[in-house]
Amino acid sequence: MLRKEDNRTIVQEHKRKNASNNKTEVDEIKAKLKNMKHEIKELKSTPNETKGKTKPKKIHSKQVKVESDEKNDKKKIVKHAKNNKPVTKGKIDKKASVGQIIKNDPKDKMYVIPLGGLEEVGKNITAIQYRDEIIIIDSGVIFPDDNLLGIDLVIPDFTFLANNKDKIKGLFVTHGHEDHIGSIPYLYEKIDKKVPIYGGKLTLALAKSKFENRLGTRPPKMKEIKGRSRIKAGKYFTVEFIKITHSITDAYSICVTTPAGVVFHTGDFKIDLTPVDGEGVDFARLAEIGQKGVDLLLSDSTNSEVEGFTPSEKSVGVAFRNEFAKAKGRIIVAAFASHVHRLQQIIDVAKEHNRKMAIDGRSLVKVFEIASKLGYLDIPDGMLVSLADVDKYNDDNVVILCTGTQGEPMAALSRIAKNMHRHIKIKEGDTVIISATPIPGNEKAVSNNINNLLKCDAEVVFKKIAGIHVSGHGSKDEQKLMLNLIKPKYFMPVHGEHKMLRAHQETAIQTGIPKENIIIAQNGSKIEVSSQGAKLKGKVNAGSVLVDGLGVGDIGHIVLRDRQQLSQDGVVVIVFTIDKVTGQLVSGPDIVTRGFVYSKESDEIIKEASLAIKERLMNVDNYSAKDWAMLKSIARDVASKYFYNKTKRNPMILPIIMEV
Ligand SMILES: [Zn+2]
Ligand SMILES: [Zn+2]
Repeated sequence: MLRKEDNRTIVQEHKRKNASNNKTEVDEIKAKLKNMKHEIKELKSTPNETKGKTKPKKIHSKQVKVESDEKNDKKKIVKHAKNNKPVTKGKIDKKASVGQIIKNDPKDKMYVIPLGGLEEVGKNITAIQYRDEIIIIDSGVIFPDDNLLGIDLVIPDFTFLANNKDKIKGLFVTHGHEDHIGSIPYLYEKIDKKVPIYGGKLTLALAKSKFENRLGTRPPKMKEIKGRSRIKAGKYFTVEFIKITHSITDAYSICVTTPAGVVFHTGDFKIDLTPVDGEGVDFARLAEIGQKGVDLLLSDSTNSEVEGFTPSEKSVGVAFRNEFAKAKGRIIVAAFASHVHRLQQIIDVAKEHNRKMAIDGRSLVKVFEIASKLGYLDIPDGMLVSLADVDKYNDDNVVILCTGTQGEPMAALSRIAKNMHRHIKIKEGDTVIISATPIPGNEKAVSNNINNLLKCDAEVVFKKIAGIHVSGHGSKDEQKLMLNLIKPKYFMPVHGEHKMLRAHQETAIQTGIPKENIIIAQNGSKIEVSSQGAKLKGKVNAGSVLVDGLGVGDIGHIVLRDRQQLSQDGVVVIVFTIDKVTGQLVSGPDIVTRGFVYSKESDEIIKEASLAIKERLMNVDNYSAKDWAMLKSIARDVASKYFYNKTKRNPMILPIIMEV
């Protein structure tokens, strides 16, 4: 309430100033005091806001004084907000205004800084800065491609946020997918642990569980939001969550308002008109926000190259019903663990067909646990059975739900396909449904699985045509609908490879956004937003940090190059002992190899190599004590030339010297 009143006061103040510049400051203060009297009355009538605050009058007279200080705009807002602090700060403020803050200074600027998710699909994270305050939207991961040998995860480079950690006022999370929450524990190793996380119930539960894997990092305060929740963060930010549809429950768009402008971030979205959970897109609020005016729209580009409308998630339920009706034996379904709506539909169809369900895959078990506890998954009593007990039921009374839609080598489906699974052996009559499309790069692994399953005479359902998968992201027509609802002055496609951003740019032009008002940015770009418009202005540090085991960022291109060499031609270790005074060879060299040649069958080559090295080492005449580097390089040279001649391979060669 206080906020609204403040705004009105400022509006009136603003109008007055524009109308008559010759009015004295004293007149203005008088007029303002009039308004304030009314406001104080209102304040007094709201007990929880006034109790304990002894002198509301004084607060307001101070406010008037400061607000009329035109010369020092910065000071004005700081004080002004300070007075508001007890009412709204950090709390969910249902009455805070969005899209209404008056831009009284055209020089006032905010910055949108994408730190991930541009020119890539994954590790989404965006910082928004106004003066000395920053908020963060999402903090995701991207899974490594084949070139990143042995790397577990790729997370954003948090340098910019670490360097500005005293400014960060909140982390706002759109939904609970890995590419939006996966790096949160790593982020909190770099920023203040007191920064709260805001998100939907399921999002927060999933985010919290991420901390279990990072020992020693405790989850920060988490604040649950709902559709239309508004949060006052710091002195300047008002953040509103707006319900959207996606492939997971609790997905929201985020509208960020500061005195410099309004930025709307769609998050991941599709427009599902028949949502599985009955919770649809909040079109009314989207239109309202668009009506009030959005300076910059950031919108999901994942499917910007796909024509038309993405089918509703409900259509997948229909396809599942058909497949279940046809199946004679066991049914094995591979699905994404995070696809909560899909999981519910599989449960529903299994129930209709009287099938028990067993689950395999750590991530699936975790999501089942969390989502059912929160009431987002409705599992009939007695439906879940253990994998080991599957054989106790008739084949046509069983569904096995597992991970591995992407052909991940250790995932359940891959182990089943390779006949390496402890409990499940594929047999004729089994139906395997792969409820996903391969992410680019995973096609080969997925088709290997399919081939192996077919060899075991299973029925395999995997084609998109079968309708057993639809995307969670909106296609071109949904992107157009969003652009039409929000009607932004400026537009910036996000979440996607460069070509996807470009396709989204074309779509936006078709809806009437001038090309010069579309910003194609990169990770680390700074986009300045003011009442004058939006434009690229400078860069900050951004990029990728590799995570391997417990190590974060300790693996760079040198280690990766080594891993590549090891993976291609293996390693040869040459061990020999020298006299520490004379440098004379005392014993060896002994040669051990891994991944290079099979030693038992290559005795000859190794013996000959050892002799060649020995001969060269015996003839070193200008050895000065401790010149190990020279001896090592001799051994390395001789060995690599010899092995290359014999095998045309380039193994990594590691000489090891011992002294006696
Ligand atoms: Zn998502
Ligand atoms: Zn995403």
